[in-house]
Amino acid sequence: PPLLQVKDLCKSYAQQTEWAVDHVSFSLGRGEILALLGPSGCGKTTTLRMLAGFEKPNQGQILLKEQDITESPPQKRNIGIVFQDYALFPHMTLLRNVTFAMRHIEKTQQVEKALEWLQLVGLKDYAKRYPHELSGGQQQRVALARTLAAEPELVLLDEPFSNLDAALRESTRKEMRQLFKKAGTSVILVTHDQAEALTFADRVGVMQQGQLVQLNTPQLVYQQP
Ligand code: ADP
Ligand code: ADP
Repeated sequence: PPLLQVKDLCKSYAQQTEWAVDHVSFSLGRGEILALLGPSGCGKTTTLRMLAGFEKPNQGQILLKEQDITESPPQKRNIGIVFQDYALFPHMTLLRNVTFAMRHIEKTQQVEKALEWLQLVGLKDYAKRYPHELSGGQQQRVALARTLAAEPELVLLDEPFSNLDAALRESTRKEMRQLFKKAGTSVILVTHDQAEALTFADRVGVMQQGQLVQLNTPQLVYQQP
C-alpha cells in the first residue's frame, strides 16, 4: 500500500462560497517526491495544512500507513514541515535549533549528527551563530536541516526555495532531491514554479481552483498545455 492516501479532501473557509480545496484525491508512494503545482490561490497550501493537521477538512480522509490521521493533532503525525515562514528559535544557535529536533537520537551523537545536517545545507561553519545573523535563504536551509534531523516519514515543503537566489536555488534543489532519494524520504512539495516542479518531483499534480486537474510524470505534464 502507498505511504499516504488522500481521499476526497474538501475544505472551505468561513465566509467563502467556493471550495479552497475541492474533492482532492491522490496517493503517495514510499520514497516518492510529489509536487503540487498551480497558481497562487489554487489550494496548494490549504492541502498541505490539512496534511500537517493545522487545518481540519470539511470532508475526506487522510491515511498515513493505512492509519486514519484525518483527526490527529500535528505532533502525532510524524510529518516534517518546512513552510515559507521557517520559524527558527531566535535565542538558540543553529546547532541547538537542529539538535532540538533530535530527541530520538542519543545525546552524545546529537551534535555530530546535527553538524552533518548543517554541512549538507552548506552551513556547518555557522553552527555557533544565531538565526538573526543569517539571510532568509540561509535560515530556510537551517529549517530544512532541522526538519530532516527529526527523520520524519513524510516531509511537506511549501515553496522551500523561494527565498534563495536563482543559482543557489538550482543547486539546493539538486542536493535536496539527492538527499531525499538517498534517505528514502517521501516528499510533497508545493510550488507555483513549473520548472521547479518538473525537475524536483517524480510526479506532478496540477491544481486549479481547488481541484487536482492532472497528476502525472513531469514529462507527461510538460507535454500537455
Ligand atoms: P501562498 O504564498 O502559499 O499562496 P499566501 O501568501 O496566500 O500563501 O498565504 C499566507 C497565509 O495567509 C496562509 O497561512 C494562508 O492560510 C493565509 N491566507 C491566505 N489567503 C487568505 C485569506 N483570503 N484570508 C485569510 N487568510 C488567508
Ligand atoms: P495557494 O497555496 O495555492 O496559494 P491557498 O491554499 O493559500 O492557495 O488558498 C486557497 C484559497 O483559500 C484562496 O482562495 C485563499 O484566498 C483561500 N484561503 C486560504 N487561507 C485562508 C484563510 N485562512 N481564510 C480564508 N480563506 C483562505
